[in-house]
This record gives sequence, structure tokens and C-alpha cells, in this order.
Amino acid sequence: MTQRVTNWARNITYTAKEYHRPRSLDALRSVVTAATRLRVLGSGHSFNRIADPGADGVLVSIAGLPPALDVDTAARTVRVAGGVRYAELARTVHAHGLALPNMASLPHISVAGSVATGTHGSGVGNGSLAAPVREVELLTADGSTVVVARGDARFDGAVTSLGALGVVTALTLDLEPAYEVEQHVFTELPLAGLDFETVAAAAYSVSLFTDWREPGFRQVWLKRRTDQAPPVFPWAAPAAEAMHPVPGMPAVNCTPQFGVPGPWHERLPHFRADFTPSSGDELQSEYLLPRPAALDALHALDAVRGTVAPVVQTCEVRTVAADPQWLGPAHGRDSVALHFTWVDDIAAVLPVVRRLEEALDPFGPRPHWGKVFTTSASVLRGRYPRLDDFLALARSLDPAGKFANDFVRDALGE
Ligand SMILES: Cc1cc2nc3c(=O)[nH]c(=O)nc-3n(C[C@H](O)[C@H](O)[C@H](O)COP(=O)(O)OP(=O)(O)OC[C@H]3O[C@@H](n4cnc5c(N)ncnc54)[C@H](O)[C@@H]3O)c2cc1C
Repeated sequence: MTQRVTNWARNITYTAKEYHRPRSLDALRSVVTAATRLRVLGSGHSFNRIADPGADGVLVSIAGLPPALDVDTAARTVRVAGGVRYAELARTVHAHGLALPNMASLPHISVAGSVATGTHGSGVGNGSLAAPVREVELLTADGSTVVVARGDARFDGAVTSLGALGVVTALTLDLEPAYEVEQHVFTELPLAGLDFETVAAAAYSVSLFTDWREPGFRQVWLKRRTDQAPPVFPWAAPAAEAMHPVPGMPAVNCTPQFGVPGPWHERLPHFRADFTPSSGDELQSEYLLPRPAALDALHALDAVRGTVAPVVQTCEVRTVAADPQWLGPAHGRDSVALHFTWVDDIAAVLPVVRRLEEALDPFGPRPHWGKVFTTSASVLRGRYPRLDDFLALARSLDPAGKFANDFVRDALGE
């Protein structure tokens, strides 16, 4: 490939022999049918080789395709092209008086790439971003279009699919009436005596942040829907100034705080659409565990605090409601998600990731598909009861394995 293509964090350079950015569906179809190995690159916000087709493969971006965004206000749905990013989707949907139920920490990510990896926000009642998806349009290996809708026996394998079934050209999502959210930040929540269930349910979306240099949490972010009860949070003090989840980073990159109400899509992400999210020079890992194990898992983390602290910029604790998607990291279990923004030094980070995975192992952690992890296929097999169903679906839609890559083979054991 003459052009050097990297992911957002620049820790991955894709090894594909060709890179295409077609501007029409017909051009995309020609690229797909001509290729023997192909992967789609979304907005490139994953931290591992999940999107890399390998040296004999073709990398294709669909960001140049017409950015379809068709809102049906009567049905409360939107059909959105796979390459569109959440910022644009959210603005359009909001202009129609409608809303998504939740968003990730940043709006810069593509819709198809996000749901493919099980990307999520927070909230004990909120599923992952795959939850509102009702239909997936796939351009499959032979160039034909397959539509898989909710109710189809294949649907629970077709949304969080790691990009292994075909090119997701469009998705249809359920919407709800637009709502407002206000964001309240608190500081210094002790781990000792923490009632995790009550804290996690204190608002529509709750995030705890720490750098593990001291026990407990440096920040708590509550995102309250203004149509729900005001938060009661006696366990920590309100922040005196606007905060960024990474200590020392400017809060101007973050969405408004201090309880100022605003549209859902300008409060649910932590980071503003028009600024660089997070720190930029970073790696990330994340593990989803059964929510009832949250407190024990946090104490297990506290026990390895001395190992984690030197390489972590911030750690975020969120919750995700159970997910029917076969490869959803919250599949079949209400989950707590333990996220780590690491320093940008893979050699220093990998041994810590291994130590962390050992510490969390008793709780059956499922790694985020788009982040750094070392969990083997044999271990993942024990954690995903519908994994064989997914592999059978991939074989039926893509018998020659055009959309498989080393990442998927290593992770799923095929
Ligand atoms: C600063 C930052 C903050 C983040 N915050 C969160 C967060 O709050 N919550 C969370 O869960 N994750 C978070 N992530 C991780 C991120 O959401 C995921 O990595 C997600 O996959 C990014 O979407 P993308 O379009 O960039 O995917 P990419 O990395 O481009 O691709 C991911 C996978 O999707 C596939 N894919 C992409 N588009 C298509 C398509 N059209 N058809 C078929 N397959 C496709 C790719 O082949 C690949 O397998 C964050 C990442 C960053 C960098």
C-alpha cells in the first residue's frame, strides 16, 4: 500500500496491500467482489488490529459513500449509512425532535464500527450502542445485499459482528423523543464502604474515574435526564471547577458540567464533538464483568493498584445493561465495565494488561473488542456461550472467509 494508513491513536499501521475509498455503492461492490480478503475501516478508533485485513488484503473506508440519514418521525426510526459518525447522526436526529437512548464517551466514532465492537456508554438501564439497532444492511462476499432485521434468527449475531460478516452499508435504529440531560461532577468518592449498586443507579448514566494512585475515585460524573428525579449524591463533594477525566487535561474539551441542562447528544458524551477527545496519546483496554461482582472486582483492582498506577492515565467504571448480541461483551449479563486509558507505551502497558487480566479472571471478564487485551481464544470461548452460533453465521454468509482476519481468527479460534 503506497499510502500509510493508521488508526486514530497511531499505534496501528494497517498492513493491507490496497486501500480504497469508494464514492458509490457500485464502486464498493466492485472492490468487494474483486477482493479475496477485505476489512472495512470505520473511523479508526480501535486500538488493536481488528480492522487490519493483513498484507494480502484490502482495506476499505466507506466514509466517502453518500451519508444517508433518513429519519422517519412517525415510526421514530433512522436509517443511517454505516460510515456516518455519531456526531452527525445525533445532530440530525435531534433536529427532528428525536434521540438515541445513549452515546459513548465521544461522538467522533462511526456507527457501524461502534456497534461492530460492542461500544457502549453507561447506565444500569442502558444497553450498548447495538441495543437500538433494528436492522442491518450487509454487502456480502459475492456482492449481494442481505438485510437482517430484529426477529430474524440471525439478528443477535449480526450487529456486534467484529466486521466479519460483510460490509455494513446501513443500519436502522430505534429512536425516542428528544430529552435534556444535565451533568453533575463530584470529587473524592471512597472505595471503603462503597454501595456500588446505589451509586451506579444514582442517575441515568454514571461514571466513576480514578488513576489508582490512591484508593477510591477522584471523580464521579452523573448524567441526569431532566425528565427524571434530581440526583441525590451525599457520598462525595460537588466539583468546584470543570473537570476532564484525565488529570491535567483541559476541561474545555469536555461537555458542559455544573448541572447546566442541554440536549442529550451534548451531555451524554464526555467529550465535545468539535474537540480532540480524551488525551490523544494513549492506549485503551476495557473489561466487562457481571455487575453483581463489581465491588469485589474493584477491590481486586485496588490490590494491584501499585502495578496499574504507573501506566494508567485514567480508569473509568461504567455499567451496561445485558445484551442479546452473541458477541456483545455484555451478552446475557448486566455488566460493570472497567476501562483503562493507558500511557502511549505498549511495551510498558502489556505486562500490566496481563496482570490485570489475572486479577480480574475470577470474575469472567470479557474484553472490549476494540481495545488492547491478551485473553486467548480458549478463554473467550468459555465466556461467550453463543460463539459457535456466530461462527456458523459467518460461514453461511462468507463461506470463503473473505471478511475474516488474523484478529478474528485469533480471538474466536477459527
Ligand atoms: C478516545 C476514545 C474514546 C472511546 N470511548 C469509548 C466508549 O466510551 N465506549 C466504548 O465502548 N468504546 C470507546 N472507544 C472505543 C471505540 O468506540 C471502538 O473502538 C469503536 O469500534 C470505534 O468505532 P470505529 O468506527 O472507529 O471502528 P474501527 O476501529 O474503524 O473498526 C472497528 C471494527 O468495526 C469494523 N467496521 C467498521 N465499519 C464497518 C462497516 N461499515 N462494515 C463492517 N465492519 C465495519 C472494522 O472492520 C473493525 O473490525 C473509544 C475509543 C477512543 C479512541
